[in-house]
Formats: sequence, structure tokens, C-alpha cells
Amino acid sequence: MISKQESGRRAKAAALFDKIDALLVTKPENVRYLTGFTGSNGMLLLLRDGSATLFTDPRYTVQSKQQTDCEIVIAKGTLTKAVLKAFTKSGARNIGFEQDHLNVAQFEALKKGLTLGLELVGVSGLIENLRMAKDEGEIALIRASVIANSQALENALGRLEIGMTEAEFAAEIDYANRKLGAEGLAFDTIVAAGVRAALPHAHPGPAVIGPGMLLIDMGVFHNGYASDMTRMVHLGEPTEQYREAYAAVLEAQLAAIDAVKPGAGVVGVDKAAREVLKSHGFDKAFVHSTGHGLGLEIHENPRIGRKGKGKLETGMAITIEPGVYLEGWGGIRIEDTVLVTSTGCEILTPTSKALRVVS
Ligand code: ZN
Ligand code: ZN
Repeated sequence: MISKQESGRRAKAAALFDKIDALLVTKPENVRYLTGFTGSNGMLLLLRDGSATLFTDPRYTVQSKQQTDCEIVIAKGTLTKAVLKAFTKSGARNIGFEQDHLNVAQFEALKKGLTLGLELVGVSGLIENLRMAKDEGEIALIRASVIANSQALENALGRLEIGMTEAEFAAEIDYANRKLGAEGLAFDTIVAAGVRAALPHAHPGPAVIGPGMLLIDMGVFHNGYASDMTRMVHLGEPTEQYREAYAAVLEAQLAAIDAVKPGAGVVGVDKAAREVLKSHGFDKAFVHSTGHGLGLEIHENPRIGRKGKGKLETGMAITIEPGVYLEGWGGIRIEDTVLVTSTGCEILTPTSKALRVVS
């Protein structure tokens, strides 16, 4: 189905052209954002006047027609060749390319085929920055992705048993998400039991889930849009140390969420979480950023960290996910997907954050 919003996005993008007459978009998420085309092989040439041509291969002849209202070129050879032809016809002198995405081989092929007088100009983050603030349609898709992901956790927890391996429980989560309509995982599901929870990005393996803490970080794509959530469950009665650490991380997470509003600097939001953890003596145990944007990709701008840039804007979808990690003990992280609204924020993740004990 072709929707109208993509042409509006292309006009917005073209209005940002500064030193370039045209932009060759190669990153699949950016191509999708500007055209609606979801195929794996596509390039978009966007001109200053907003007109656009999508280049793809014969496998996508039907699909591209169904998904986009751009002009379509089905390339018989490489896309690069077809793109070069269009460069010459376009009248553009300076053509931007996505320097964070185009690989060296593609760049060399483009450069070699350029007509005299045409220049390639590296461009960074132009479409990514446009994608930061989501429109109503995107927000609805992120919301649906987040709700399904939360439901999948509940379904999987119904099957959790002591003695399962991390990998088995991760498979239960992935199965539950697939059954709820996820088209794929946003990242490899993290299930980390006991001391392994001290590894922020533990890969689920043969470790057996016993009494103790269990960290679960999960996210999926629904209709192209990501969800991301981390929750802790404790099998059997938790220790006092676990309760205290859990309370500290939750306090930090709530403090950061409290700081989320339009105009708030991302560094300030990160600091809000960091200050709370510091007051509990956990400042050295918080080894990553507080959060990240998400949308068509699981990690997008803005980055909510000490080195993050810029301010929050209405419509941004971000995660807030402070954690503490203590070698030889374990780790705790709590993560929600949060929407920046005109008045502050809305926590999209419906799953409770009360300390959860399963027996
Ligand atoms: Zn996560
Ligand atoms: Zn995350």
C-alpha cells in the first residue's frame, strides 16, 4: 500500500540540502523512510526539487510498484551503473552520498563512473536526524511493537522453569514474540542468569537458570518499528543486597524519565540517572549510556549519554535503561521505551517495574 507521508518526508529532506544538489540514499532504513520500499536492495536518488527515483533489481519489480510512488528504475546490471546514468541526466553537479553507510567498493565504483564535472560529497546523518522525531503513524507502530513485546514476556514467563538454560528461555521469548506477529528480532535476546547478569550484553548460552536473579533484554520489529525492554525477575526469595540494588536502579530509571521533556538536553537526562546511582555508591557500576533513540533501527539518534548531543524533541522515541553490574555478583538493568510528548513524556512499556519474584 502506498501512503502519502513519504513524499512529505522527501520534500523535508530536500529542503535540508545545503552544499548538494542531490542525495544518493543507500541505507535501507533511510530508503524505506523516504519511499516505503522494504526490499533488501534499493537506492534512492533524491533531487533538490523533491523528485525521486528508486533503483532496485528485477526481484522487486512488483513489490516496488506496490510500495512506492517514486519513479522506479529496475536495474538490469548493478544499481551503481543505473544510478550513474541517472546522475548524468539529473543536472546535479554535487551529489551527496551517505558516508556512514556506502562501502568503499560502492564508492569507488561510483567515483570511477562519474561524468566530468560531477562531484561526490560525503553527507552524514541527514536522513537519520530527520527520523528522530516520529510522526503519528510511526508512534502508533512503535506503540504496537512495544505492547506486543511486553505481552511476549508474560507469555514466556509462564513457561519459565528452574533448570532451563538461558538459551532455552531466550527461545521461549523469541517464539512468543513470533507468535504475536513480530517480523524479526530487533537484536539477539539477552537472557543472563545469576553472576552472568554482570555482563551487560550477555549472549544466552548453556548456563542453567537457577534460584537467583535473571536479566531479560528483548525487542522486536513490528511493521518495521522496534521495541526494546529490559526486566529483571528473581527466582526464589531475593537477598537484601538484591533488593537494595534493584531499588537504586529503579530510582535512577524514574529520575531519568522524570527529566525527559522537550528541550531537555540528553546529557542532563543521562546525568539524572547517574547522580542517583552515585548517591547509592553505584556510579562505577553503571558502565553504559542511559538510553538511545529507536524507530526503524534499534539504535538511533539521539544517544542519551555523557557524550550525547542535542536536546529532546516532541515525538522522539527513546529508551531509558540505567543498570549496575558487579563482577562476581550479577547485574540489574531496567529499561522502558519512552515517548517525548509536548508536556513531558509517556512511558510506552506497560510491563510493571515492581520487584518481581517468581517461585
Ligand atoms: Zn534493551
Ligand atoms: Zn536499549
